[in-house]
Amino acid sequence: MKARILVTNDDGIHSPGLRALVEELAKDFELLVIAPERQQSAAGHSITLHKPLRMDPARVGEADVKAFQSNGTPADCIVLGTLSEFGKPDMVVSGINAGANLGEEIFYSGTVSAAMEAAIQEIPAFSISVDSYDATIYEPAAEFARHLAHIILETGLPSGTFLNVNVPHLPKEKIVGVAITRLGRRSYRNQLQKRTDPRGRPYYWFSGAPQEVDSGPDTDIGAVKAGKISITPVQLDATNYALLEQLRGLEEKFAFGQMEAAEHGGSEG
Ligand code: MN
Repeated sequence: MKARILVTNDDGIHSPGLRALVEELAKDFELLVIAPERQQSAAGHSITLHKPLRMDPARVGEADVKAFQSNGTPADCIVLGTLSEFGKPDMVVSGINAGANLGEEIFYSGTVSAAMEAAIQEIPAFSISVDSYDATIYEPAAEFARHLAHIILETGLPSGTFLNVNVPHLPKEKIVGVAITRLGRRSYRNQLQKRTDPRGRPYYWFSGAPQEVDSGPDTDIGAVKAGKISITPVQLDATNYALLEQLRGLEEKFAFGQMEAAEHGGSEG
């Protein structure tokens, strides 16, 4: 029996990246596509609590797959695909996004958040992006996604983790290889412009290219720059364990509230 894969993205149901991914994955897998009806880039991990969620039948390219467009966010699409009548899929794949999701961009990305939502629901997942906002070359990323899906189905992923994949915007023969990477850092500091509108009121506009502050060859940023496909294992547990130990050593500094009651309760137990 074919493995069942739930596919979503954040660029919307009509994006060429989703189409390339779906047409390629459909060769080997049974797909359920639930994607936002319109562009949701930088939607982050937001979910919809205050309006009805809809799913309307849709078509994705030439692929003969079950597909729906939703008024929800990418994370909503995962919830719709996993908790509704369709049942839990074997895997979630999110993409192919136009534009890389590197370093701290994963915290804003709807593409990555969909994979993160799958990890929360204990479903193996990966997000995949191409390093160009005007991407036209999706075939290598789509082909790699199919390859990676087979690997993950075979080997599994640890609980609470997913993979974030970034592919250089290059033809297959120009891609140098695959690197397993850590998240780099980019900074958008000083990239906020303040202007005045025609009515004299100030407004602000994000602009400019990010400054790379940690982009060595072992990072996702460095790998993609070197022409490699980057695979970063990401975990939900964002605890800083080193700092946790340090803070526990300073615990008396944080003393607050009903310390007497707590001590009393402790002696009873
Ligand atoms: Mn996007």
